[in-house]
Amino acid sequence: MKIEFISKENGAATLLLKETNPTEMNMLRRLMVNEVPTLAMEDITIIKNNSALYDEVLAHRLGLIVLKTDLESYDLPAECKGKKKGEAVCTKENCPHHTVLLKLKATGPKSVYAEEIESKDKEVKPIHPKTLIVKLLKKQAIEIEATAVMGQGKDHMKFSPGLVYYKGYPKIKIGDIKNAAAVEASCPTKVYEVKNDKLKIADEKRCILCKACVDVSENKIEVQGSNEEFMLTIEPWGQLTPGEMLLKAIDVMDSKLDEFESLIKKI
Ligand code: SF4
Ligand SMILES: [Zn+2]
Repeated sequence: MKIEFISKENGAATLLLKETNPTEMNMLRRLMVNEVPTLAMEDITIIKNNSALYDEVLAHRLGLIVLKTDLESYDLPAECKGKKKGEAVCTKENCPHHTVLLKLKATGPKSVYAEEIESKDKEVKPIHPKTLIVKLLKKQAIEIEATAVMGQGKDHMKFSPGLVYYKGYPKIKIGDIKNAAAVEASCPTKVYEVKNDKLKIADEKRCILCKACVDVSENKIEVQGSNEEFMLTIEPWGQLTPGEMLLKAIDVMDSKLDEFESLIKKI
């Protein structure tokens, strides 16, 4: 497999992967979405809450707050440095290698945003400070303690580090076109341009394989997504960067293959 960088926009990276196939692409996508771990609030103690939101609604909102995650410092409970020998998962309460304590205290009248959450680890903080948690009226107050833990998207989507999608690299063949301007206008993503009445490709990477141009050209254009080259877009929610997501996914795949190998050797 060969990887080339295409672009980075608003935190999302797009890569071109060559000499691969749909199975490998989907494996990478699933590893990133479901297996790459991040921190999210899991155990929530509501010390005080007389706001308009029920405790469970408040807890749910807190669970979805995106927290910056350092993969060097935190691990899943099953891979935690604090795990005792022979243990399947680390069960140490408030273990600094897989949990972080957070606190939130506010009194109305005011809107309470994620930026008011205090974290025991200054590096673990909400990525989107203006995420609204609750609106408090006069005499309303909340006081909450929460433990964020490392988890995976396969257990709950709040742990998933982002959105990952791919498409076969667009292969476009232009035949004998009589209506260049109409074909150009039919494309929703401005793939074509007309120069001297001739239809040219301005940027095939923009193609979303909708085939509107094929219809308008009366099949004088062929559009196919490649089965060997793919454009992979990694759009993080913010816990990790696209590079961290991809590298961790490859690490996870490596350890799964090692486990598979050791199981095969036992047969
Ligand atoms: S398939 Fe759709 S997106 Fe691609 S070039 Fe044709 S009209 Fe544009
Ligand atoms: Zn631990």
